[in-house]
Amino acid sequence: MAIASRKLNRHLALHLNPTTPATHHRFSPYPAATSSSSSSLTTHHQEVKSLTELEKLHPLGQGSGGAVFKVRHKPTRAIYALKKISSAAETQEEEEVSIHRIASSSPHVVKFQGSFQTPNGDVSILMDYMESGSLSDHAKASYHDARLPEHAIADVARQILQGFTHLHANNIVHRDVKPANFLVNANEVKIADFGVSKRLPTRLARCDSYVGTAAYLSPERFDMAAHGSTYDGFAADVWSLGLVFLELYLGRYPLLEPGQKPDWPALMCAICFGEMPPKIPEEASEEFREFIGCCLEKDPCKRWTVQQLLGHRFIVPRPQEEEVKEIAR
Ligand code: ATP
Ligand code: MG
Repeated sequence: MAIASRKLNRHLALHLNPTTPATHHRFSPYPAATSSSSSSLTTHHQEVKSLTELEKLHPLGQGSGGAVFKVRHKPTRAIYALKKISSAAETQEEEEVSIHRIASSSPHVVKFQGSFQTPNGDVSILMDYMESGSLSDHAKASYHDARLPEHAIADVARQILQGFTHLHANNIVHRDVKPANFLVNANEVKIADFGVSKRLPTRLARCDSYVGTAAYLSPERFDMAAHGSTYDGFAADVWSLGLVFLELYLGRYPLLEPGQKPDWPALMCAICFGEMPPKIPEEASEEFREFIGCCLEKDPCKRWTVQQLLGHRFIVPRPQEEEVKEIAR
């Protein structure tokens, strides 16, 4: 399995749960050497002209791509999130900015509000602050054992799939789908983190970079060499989405036993040679099992597209089922 020396391979993370830094990093607002504006900026948001107008409040997260801070726009007191991407790291900051900007025209993507470049080449992305944090934070905080009921998973899946329909229609493959890269605000869930995403020249173009988070890679991405060294990025996103939806149901990463170490051999065994879909508790509905099976199909040619999944009966319940669910709520 050739994994070590591909472009951007520093973005291939093994971890399942990112950690929020315990200490507060010093925040140095530099004057913007360049700032780009988005056609989607509102009059209010256009007032953020430079990083010097932003006051750091506290860190929100730290990933392989950069550090994210909650910030306040001093003149208006508006709250945002600011992702600082270091050019010293092997990042693709310009691509992240341009993809996030395009993706942000969907209401199911965290709103991009602008970008700034400092004289040393570091790039910062200003975006809407998502008050409930990541989908994994939200599941732990709001549900017993971090397990969402099926109707809540269907609601989350509908929003995410609508966002992915927009991404895939624009030939954007996300490539790092995992619970930490979906953010929650009130009752909305939105797609975030385009740090290893790619805009492909055509719908048929294939990917060949070994990037993303190992635990959520599809079999053809995990062991690319055995699959012709390229993969369909759209189908690969769908696999990872299936794992995220199943994780919301189980309250844990679905492919390993509780407590099992997520190292390379264990993941390789589970992802490439394990039974798919994995065992789902008997109380799960038939439509949920079927839906997960359509995502976790090992053959990428047989895997459903996001558009097909949006029409699945788990996502589009028949009217009488909706009534029963309403009564059960
Ligand atoms: P990784 O490489 O680990 O996926 P990253 O460095 O690319 O991460 P992001 O995923 O963009 O960075 O952000 C890291 C974390 O910061 C998120 O998981 C989330 O907890 C927090 N975060 C990011 N953006 C926001 C936001 N707009 N509002 C609230 N929290 C955010
Ligand atoms: Mg992330």
